[in-house]
Amino acid sequence: MSMDISGCAASRRPTRQVRVGEVIVGSGAPVVVQSMTNTDTADHIATAIQVAELARAGSEMVRITVNNEDAARAVPRIQEQLERMGVHVPLVGDFHYNGHRLLTEFPECARVLAKLRINPGNVGAGVKRDTQFASIVEIACKYDTPVRIGVNWGSLDQSVMARVMDENARRAEPLDAGAVMREALVTSALESAAQAEAVGLAGDKIILSAKVSSVQDLIAVYRDLARRCDYPLHLGLTEAGMGSKGIVASTAALAVLLQEGIGDTIRISLTPEPNGSRTQEVVVAQEILQTMGLRAFTPMVTACPGCGRTTSTFFQELASRIQNHVREQMPRWREQYDGVENMTLAVMGCVVNGPGESKHADIGISLPGTGESPAAPVYVDGEKRLTLRGDNIAAEFQAIVDDYVATKYKRKAG
Ligand code: SF4
Repeated sequence: MSMDISGCAASRRPTRQVRVGEVIVGSGAPVVVQSMTNTDTADHIATAIQVAELARAGSEMVRITVNNEDAARAVPRIQEQLERMGVHVPLVGDFHYNGHRLLTEFPECARVLAKLRINPGNVGAGVKRDTQFASIVEIACKYDTPVRIGVNWGSLDQSVMARVMDENARRAEPLDAGAVMREALVTSALESAAQAEAVGLAGDKIILSAKVSSVQDLIAVYRDLARRCDYPLHLGLTEAGMGSKGIVASTAALAVLLQEGIGDTIRISLTPEPNGSRTQEVVVAQEILQTMGLRAFTPMVTACPGCGRTTSTFFQELASRIQNHVREQMPRWREQYDGVENMTLAVMGCVVNGPGESKHADIGISLPGTGESPAAPVYVDGEKRLTLRGDNIAAEFQAIVDDYVATKYKRKAG
């Protein structure tokens, strides 16, 4: 049956609400999925193409690095190219070291960006740090642009770290090195937010993040941030890594925090496989939120792992085919049908759990295991509807899914 996502999710931590373009972050709004390009921003065509891919995969805002003059010059062209492509997604500019200068010298870049990301550890050193930070914030105020103050333990503001270490040394019972580092991260984020507000940025224009690459540290840091402020929080495990490690580590950290109601927008920092699609990070972010019952993006396919009762690969191939089919159809289905993202499917390998699991899904198929008669009962809305046989089971089951979508879900107006 379709998953009811109301009521089963953890209650969200109350926060201020920040608008990024048309997207609302915080204050009980759905957790927003975001991603970041890895193209050379100066190549405005390649970057616009990747932004479009990420947006079409479901990224609700896309960050691009703005690392030099060519990149800053390209930002309005990227925006224009996206408009020509019919892609409307808020662009976030990522600034390090020279953001104050680029945003001043390239006002069109500053104007089109829907959000700025500043890393307090990379704004400048010594006396220049505060003035350069203030000049970025002033530009954000001028264009009414929200800012993410994004601390990262790989580029932590060393003056904050030194001060927190000094304070710790004076404690009767000093904290261990890990706790000191976590306190420095949180302090850097909170003090930078206070500084931005002192410059004139409204509190509802600020999102905070404090990323680390260790799961337990990330959980501890965000619990502390959540306790000490009411800004919306951008969650993500930095440098999560490649393949299953990156996915598992990100999921382990984010699931704990999201379950506690912490986190208003998420990004999964996966290292893509060589020539792999950047959109994988969007799919993973969506799947974390959907499997936790926090949002619904695309119909979910339940499949058993298979065992000695499934000696052919047919069952894996069917599960994969249906999953891919659903993902490919979703952009069209989403435009045409209300609620189709809540549909559930089951592809099961044998009679042991096949009929039972299939009855719990909107549409389920229980394939014959080894030694069973070559028949595959199909269940629709909990009832056995028909039995498929022969060489065409995959195509016939796919057609049943398509027909179910067309008849079950209400067509959207227009
Ligand atoms: S449903 Fe059947 S094939 Fe699938 S894991 Fe269970 S026993 Fe094995």
